[in-house]
Amino acid sequence: MHTKLPFTLAQVQEWKKEYPTPFILYDAAGITAAVRQLQQAFAWNRGYREYFAVKATPTPAVLRLLSTLGCGADCASVPEIILAQASGLTGRKIVFTSNQTLPQEYAEAVLSGAIVNLDDITQIDRLEQAAGIPETVCCRYNPGKFSGEGKFIGTAYESKFGMTPAQLLQAMAILRDKGVKHFGIHAMLAGNTLEPDYYPRLAQELFGTAVTVRQQLGIAVEFVDLAGGIGIPYRPEEKPVDILAVGEGVRQVYEKMLTPLGLTPAIYTELGRFVTGPYGYLVTRVIGEKHTHKEYVGVDATAACLLRPAMYGAYHHITVLGKEDTPCEKVVDVVGSLCENNDKFAVDRLLPRVQPGDILVIQDAGAHGHSMGYNYNGKLRCAELMLQEGKVRLIRRAQTPEDYFSTLDIDEQFMAARKDKR
Ligand SMILES: *Cc1c(COP(=O)(O)O)cnc(C)c1O
Repeated sequence: MHTKLPFTLAQVQEWKKEYPTPFILYDAAGITAAVRQLQQAFAWNRGYREYFAVKATPTPAVLRLLSTLGCGADCASVPEIILAQASGLTGRKIVFTSNQTLPQEYAEAVLSGAIVNLDDITQIDRLEQAAGIPETVCCRYNPGKFSGEGKFIGTAYESKFGMTPAQLLQAMAILRDKGVKHFGIHAMLAGNTLEPDYYPRLAQELFGTAVTVRQQLGIAVEFVDLAGGIGIPYRPEEKPVDILAVGEGVRQVYEKMLTPLGLTPAIYTELGRFVTGPYGYLVTRVIGEKHTHKEYVGVDATAACLLRPAMYGAYHHITVLGKEDTPCEKVVDVVGSLCENNDKFAVDRLLPRVQPGDILVIQDAGAHGHSMGYNYNGKLRCAELMLQEGKVRLIRRAQTPEDYFSTLDIDEQFMAARKDKR
C-alpha cells in the first residue's frame, strides 16, 4: 500500500480519454526498483537469478521489462512457456514448475530447453517416455513439517506439492542413473508472508537437504530454488519485508552450512507478488451510490478485474484520486456490478465522500490481479497499461464481446447481422 501514488488525477483524466476505465496500470520504475533491490540482496551469490512467476502477471510487456533486468521466468503451463519465450526468455531462463503434468507438457518444456522441476517421483517415467530425461533436473521438496510454519502457510503436510525427503533422495539416485548431470532442489512453503525469517528458514531446510544429498549420493546440488511466497504490505499498518536483510539471512545460513563442505549452489528465487504486486494499480470510476441498509459506492470495475477480495476477502487499499488529503468521513462498501454479493472491493471502508466520476485507485493489483480475472456474468477483462518515463502505453487491450464469444459454437449469421446493424 502506497501513501503517495506515482501518478496524479490530472494524468488519469488525460489517459482515460484514450483508455477508458477500468484498467490496471503498471509502474515500470517501481517494478525495476524491486528487481534491483532483490538482485542486490543476493549479489553475494554467484549465479543468483530471479525467475519471475509468470502466473502473477502474464503480460509480455511486463515480462520483457523483467527480461531486460536479467530475470528469468517460472512457468507452470505450456501457454506460460510461450509467453516467456515471446518476451525474450528462453532455454535456461525458464523453470517449468508444474504438477499433475501431462506427457505433452513435458515434451514442450524439454523442447523449449527449460529447467524441468519435477513435482513427484512418479513423474520420472512420464518425463522419460514423453521427452527423454534432460541433463538438468530440479526436484521439488516437501518436508511434511516445517519449523514455524503456522506463521507462513497451511501445513506442508497438507500441501499437494513436492516429494517427501526419502522420495527426493530416491528420485535423485534414479535420475542420476538415467544420466542427469546437473541437479537443483526447490521448495515453496509459504504464501504472501511478511516474516523476514521465511527464506532463511527455508534455506536452512533446503541446504540441509543438499548436505544429505551430498553425503548419501555424492551429488553436489548446483542450484537451490527458494521459489516465491514473500509477501507485500497490503494493509496500511503492515511493513514491507526488508529484502536486503532476507538476503543477508540466507547468506549466513549458506556460509554456515554449505561453504565449509565446498558446496556452492546458485540461489534462485521465483517471486511474483514481491516484484509486481505493489506496482499495479486498478483504476476505476465511481458510477453511482446506493443507500439501503448499508452505504454503497458502485464502480465500473468488478471482481472480473481483481478477484482477490471476492476470493479471499483480501484487503486492497483504496485511494480516492485527488482526495488524498480529504478527511475520511463515510463508511461504505465499494462494489462492482457482478450478480454475486462477494463482488466488493472493500467492506465497511472509511473513505472520503465520493461522487460519480471520481477515480478510485485500488492498490496492489499488480500480481495475481488481472491474471486471476474471469468472465463470469459476461463481464469483460479490463485493459492493462504501462507507465514508463512519464508516458503510458497500452500493453493489453480490453476484451471485446467478440473476444468473449470467439470460442463459442454460436449463430455466425446472427453475429454478422448484428455487427452490420451497429
Ligand atoms: C505461485 C508460485 C510462485 C509465486 O508466488 P508469489 O506469492 O507470487 O511470490 C512461485 N513459485 C511457484 C512454484 C508458485 O506456484
